[in-house]
Amino acid sequence: MSRPSFKRILLKLSGEVLMGDQPFGINPETVARMALEVKAAKDAGFELCLVIGGGNIFRGMAGAAKGMDRAQADYMGMLATVMNALAMQNALEQLGVDTRVQSAIQMDQVCEPVIRRRAERHIEKGRVVIFAAGVGSPYFTTDSGAALRAAEMKCDALFKGTSVDGVYDADPKLVPDAKRYDNVGFDTVLSDNLKVMDASAVALCRDNNIPIVVFSIREEGNLARVLAGEGTATIVTNQA
Ligand code: UDP
Repeated sequence: MSRPSFKRILLKLSGEVLMGDQPFGINPETVARMALEVKAAKDAGFELCLVIGGGNIFRGMAGAAKGMDRAQADYMGMLATVMNALAMQNALEQLGVDTRVQSAIQMDQVCEPVIRRRAERHIEKGRVVIFAAGVGSPYFTTDSGAALRAAEMKCDALFKGTSVDGVYDADPKLVPDAKRYDNVGFDTVLSDNLKVMDASAVALCRDNNIPIVVFSIREEGNLARVLAGEGTATIVTNQA
């Protein structure tokens, strides 16, 4: 199956990709490298929305496991995603890429609220829009936020940048002969519980027919390569 071509994409990065080799937090050099990936995609003519997780700083589930109220911990997780979004905005603007951050939790002093029509206008003007704070509600993740923003911004695909080069039938770090898929269906991902994104995000993409492209963001220049239909990636669709 040949790769479909896309114009507008939503790029989801987990917070962990901003840590570099630190155990937690934000590594400015790594953020700068991620920003270069985004700039290359932008320079190649793609329209870009971004969602960044918060797992490098705080995850609600981890707080809840240590006795915190889950909703309270999740709000802290959402605030972590805003910090990551601001770090990425800074790195992109240092490269000359105009960027706006829109947060699902209002924070007028540092960024805009999520306003779809305004985000649309930013994209038309060639800006990158970073959507922060997920869907703005506890008990969700930034994967769901990414799927939701991809749907409302009418993105052609959701690109999930991870540390592996696609979707496998088992964890390739644990099972050496795990099989990598080039193409796989949404229903297989859900029924076999394949590690792509969480199930609610996958279901939202399935129902709205938004392909998910899983690729390694750790390889330099890989986002642009995968966008050009080259490089290694797995595409999750309704057709596979
Ligand atoms: N979160 C939330 N609602 C959302 C998005 C995020 O409650 O819509 C919280 C949740 O606690 C989550 C944390 O923010 O653990 C960080 O997001 P996520 O775990 O998705 O980050 P990633 O794994 O992508 O780094």
